Amino acid sequence: MYKTVIGLEVHCELKSNSKNFSSARNGFSDIPNSNVSVVDMGMPGILPVVNKEAVRNSIKMALAMNCEIPKYLTFERKNYFYPDLPKGYQITQFKHPIGTNGYVMINVNGEDKKVLIHDTHLEEDTTSMDHYNDYSLLDYNRCGVPLLETVTEPCLNSADEAVAFLEGLRSIFLYTDTSYARSDKGQIRCDVNVSLMKEDATELGTKVEIKNINSFSSVKAAILCEVARQTEVLNSGGIILQETRRYDETLNQTFTMRSKEDAIDYRYFTDPNLPPIKIEDDWVNEIKREIPKLHNERFSTYTKEYGINPKDANTIVREKKVSDFYEACVALLNEPVLISNWLTGDVMKYLNRDSLSIEESKLTPKMLADLIRLITLGKINGKQGKEVLEKMMDTGKEADVLVSELGMTQISDESEIRKIISNILLENKNLIEDYKNGKNVFGYIVGLIMKNTGGKANPVVTSKVLKEELDK
Ligand code: ADP
Ligand code: MG
Repeated sequence: MYKTVIGLEVHCELKSNSKNFSSARNGFSDIPNSNVSVVDMGMPGILPVVNKEAVRNSIKMALAMNCEIPKYLTFERKNYFYPDLPKGYQITQFKHPIGTNGYVMINVNGEDKKVLIHDTHLEEDTTSMDHYNDYSLLDYNRCGVPLLETVTEPCLNSADEAVAFLEGLRSIFLYTDTSYARSDKGQIRCDVNVSLMKEDATELGTKVEIKNINSFSSVKAAILCEVARQTEVLNSGGIILQETRRYDETLNQTFTMRSKEDAIDYRYFTDPNLPPIKIEDDWVNEIKREIPKLHNERFSTYTKEYGINPKDANTIVREKKVSDFYEACVALLNEPVLISNWLTGDVMKYLNRDSLSIEESKLTPKMLADLIRLITLGKINGKQGKEVLEKMMDTGKEADVLVSELGMTQISDESEIRKIISNILLENKNLIEDYKNGKNVFGYIVGLIMKNTGGKANPVVTSKVLKEELDK
C-alpha cells in the first residue's frame, strides 16, 4: 500500500476594473479582443504600471489564508515563448511574493486538517486560445488579467482532501469578495502534483504534475486515475518518471506532455520597469479589518454553538449571502435550529424552483423571523407556516398580514378553547358517557372541535383541555 501525496498550484482571476499592469478593462467575456492595450500586446517601449486594487485583493486573500505579508513586493519576469504570451515573458512574483507560510483549515469526514500554503503570488493571466482543425483563435481580453497563484505544500493525502481545499479556497475568494471564482468560466483552475510513497518511507516519492484542470470534479477524477496509474507502475517494479501530464476528461486518463529533461528554464529576473513596492503596516491592517468572518469559522459556530447538523451548516455557509441572511434572522429571533430548518428546507426549495438567489427573492430576514415567531407562539401551525412562506416569497407581504388575509390565526387561548369544548360536550352528552365507559371517542371529539373552529384550534392546547373537561 502507498500513501498518496498531493500539492496544488491554484490560479484564480481577481476582481478589478482594469488589468494587472495596463488600463485595459478586466472583462474577459466581452466581445473578443475588445479589451486590449499596447501594454498587454507587448509593443516596444511599453511601461507596465501595477494595479493597486489587484495588490489590495491579493493582500486580502493572503491574510485570509493566514500568510505572512512581506515588507515590500517585487515583480519578476518569467521568460518563455508561447503564442498566448505576446511579451515573451509573464510578469509574476518570484523573490518576494505577496504571502508566504500560511494555512487554510479544511474538514473532511468530520476531521479538521491544516493545509499549509507555501506562498501566494500575483501575476498576469495569458491570452486564451481556441483551437480548431487547422487554425487557432486568440482572445487577448484575458491577457494581463490579474491572477493570484496559490501554492500548497505537498501535504494533501487524498482526492477528497484536494477537493475540500479547493472548495474552501473558493469560499475564501467569495467571502473576501476578491474574485467571482467561477470554474465554469475558467476563472479558477489548477495544476495538480501527485506522488506516492511507501507507508513507512521518510522521503517523498517522485511527483507528476497534471496541468491546468478546470473543474473540481475533474481534479478528483484526475487524481484517482493518476494514483491508479502510479500504483500499477510501482507494483510492477517500475519507477515513476518526473514529468508533466495532461488529463483527458472523456478518456479519464492522463497523458505525457513533457518530461523533466524538457523542463523549461524560465530565467527569472526582476522586471526593471517595476520598482519594488513598499507595503505599509497601516494598509495591511486596514485590509485585515475588511475581512468578514469566513465560512469555516461560521461553520464551527453553527455546529458547535447552535447545534446545527454539519450538512445544513454546510448548505448555509456555502454562500456568504445565505450565511449573512441566516445570521440576520438569528439576530432577530433566537431560534437558530428552527431558522436553519426553514432556510435550508422550504426557503431553498422555493429558491431552487424559481432559480432565484436569496438576494433576488422578496424574502427578508425579518419576514422569515416573523413567520417563525408566529409558529413558536402557536399563532399558526407548521403546515400553515409553509403556505404563508410561499405567499410571502410570491408577494413580499409580511407574515402577519398574510395570516390575517388568509384568516389563519390559530386559537391557542385556553379559556376560549374551553368555551368551545364545553359547548360541544353540552350538545353531545352521549359522548361523555361513551368516554367514561372506556369507548375510544377522544379523536372523534377532537375532530368535532376542529370542524367547529375551521381547523384553527391549537391541537396541543385542545387535547389538554379536552382531557381535563372529560375527566371532570
Ligand atoms: P517545482 O520545483 O517542480 O515547481 P515545487 O517544489 O516548487 O516543485 O512544488 C510545486 C508543487 O508541487 C507544490 O504544490 C508542491 O506542494 C508540489 N510537490 C512538490 N513535491 C511533491 C511531491 N513529492 N508529491 C506531490 N506534490 C509535490
Ligand atoms: Mg508553478
